[in-house]
Amino acid sequence: MHETPDISPDRKTVNREVLAGLPKVLLHDHLTGEPAQTPETLTAQVRAQLTELAADNVVYVELRISPELHTHGGLTLQEVVDCAVAGLDVPRIDARLILTAQRGRLVAETADLAVHNHGGKVVGFDVAGPEAESLAGHADAFRRLREAYVPFTVHAGLDGGIDSVAEAVQLGAVRLSHSVELIDDFRIDTEGFEGVLPGQVSGWVRDRHITLEFAPTLEVQLEAAEELGDHPLTLLQQLGFTCTVNTGDRAVAGSLTDQFTVLAEAFGYGPEEFFDLTVNAVRAAFITEVQRQDLLERVILPAYEAQDFEALDVEAAPVED
Ligand SMILES: [Zn+2]
Repeated sequence: MHETPDISPDRKTVNREVLAGLPKVLLHDHLTGEPAQTPETLTAQVRAQLTELAADNVVYVELRISPELHTHGGLTLQEVVDCAVAGLDVPRIDARLILTAQRGRLVAETADLAVHNHGGKVVGFDVAGPEAESLAGHADAFRRLREAYVPFTVHAGLDGGIDSVAEAVQLGAVRLSHSVELIDDFRIDTEGFEGVLPGQVSGWVRDRHITLEFAPTLEVQLEAAEELGDHPLTLLQQLGFTCTVNTGDRAVAGSLTDQFTVLAEAFGYGPEEFFDLTVNAVRAAFITEVQRQDLLERVILPAYEAQDFEALDVEAAPVED
């Protein structure tokens, strides 16, 4: 972890305009809109979404696309990937793809697609959908991902409980999506003075720096928290979990600037918190350490420094992976 940036108290407030101007990193954003049927419309759909993200100063995104949702027009899974990759050529945003499988559907096929395409613009794999559908039957697919060194994230712990998180972690997930139910694994230390103690699963997630991709507005909408004030983001951060903030679904959450603004209003987050969240996102991106460091030093740091938030020392952010 990096040192807390040295930001003077009178510089702590941020408004929407400042947040909009800051470079942002987005690890969890699904391709929105109706599934495309033709190659051209799919490429255009990807390009349009990235153009919107670039306008919001998202400088790096791992866009999620679920290939199986785009085959109705006759495209093969591979053709869907090719069409999506063709739409990534948008200026001012470094865009990569994560291939998402729907639980209970084409998990193995999509995992193999990720293995086959990994190394270029496809950087990882993901599973979404109803957590009642266990992933236990897909152990071989996850083994093939691990053997090919394809990193993956899993939607787990939104409504499937801590067992769903445990399953994802044991399969080898290096990031977790929407895992608000991690707190179900906590207990209160009634004898000592340590307060809230993570259990075996949540302790592993924290101590191994498995990055949590939260999308607070979406998670409230999905009733994982009654209101934003009940969302465990701040608690998890205080306990040392590695957290990031994302849109998830922009049709619900709006832009990443919208999501940041909501956090500034609800929790009083300022430049330190947004810098911290952004660094966490960079560190967990499915790219190389050299690429992460370049993004941090060439794009993120200079922009925060230009805002005159006081010094943000990149030297105080040692590589830890
Ligand atoms: Zn998602």
